[in-house]
Amino acid sequence: MVLSRLAGVLAPPLCVSCGALAPIGRPLCIRCADTLRWLGHERASPGGVVVWAPLLYEGAARDIVAAVKFRGAVRLLENMAAQIAASAPPELLRAAHLVPVPLHPARLRRRGFNQAERLAHELGVRTGMPVLDCLERGGPGSTQVGRGRASRARATGGTFALRLGAAPPRRALLVDDVVTTGATLAACADMLRRSGSERVEAVTYARTPGR
Ligand SMILES: [Zn+2]
Repeated sequence: MVLSRLAGVLAPPLCVSCGALAPIGRPLCIRCADTLRWLGHERASPGGVVVWAPLLYEGAARDIVAAVKFRGAVRLLENMAAQIAASAPPELLRAAHLVPVPLHPARLRRRGFNQAERLAHELGVRTGMPVLDCLERGGPGSTQVGRGRASRARATGGTFALRLGAAPPRRALLVDDVVTTGATLAACADMLRRSGSERVEAVTYARTPGR
């Protein structure tokens, strides 16, 4: 705590959206935090998977997601998980395994971490829910898949499979940083259901409006 305060004095925390001074431990300055659009308990089902997210994917929320992915600001994931845990519908974060959406191996090598896996871990710490990293992602356009699945693979940037030796959870809560079309979540949910999961829902930090 003392060390983090000292770090705050030496390198004052800056808002990831506008660069102004931010309160210590917060990703956004007060002005940008005020622009976040909270979604309440309302769920959406883009791509057919029921998903809940605390925030609309726009403006400052979009900047937070980008800072994690493209600037390696992994500390922000703690804040994102805390916001999910604090505002989720209570029945969502119970009796399920958190299953992170896997990153394509080439992208994982470039980025060095999977933001969905880190977010699931931070959410697990806050909720006591176990994390089961049971999915893996293959390359897009695999020749082994049928036509329908091949077009879905293009839409999601890859194909998904159960990791060797992994057992799918009975109830899964997929975790990703953001959902837009829902194609990736749908492909993961499809894989889990075909492997035996009875119930698959999803949680993300932000989502696009509607759907
Ligand atoms: Zn700001």
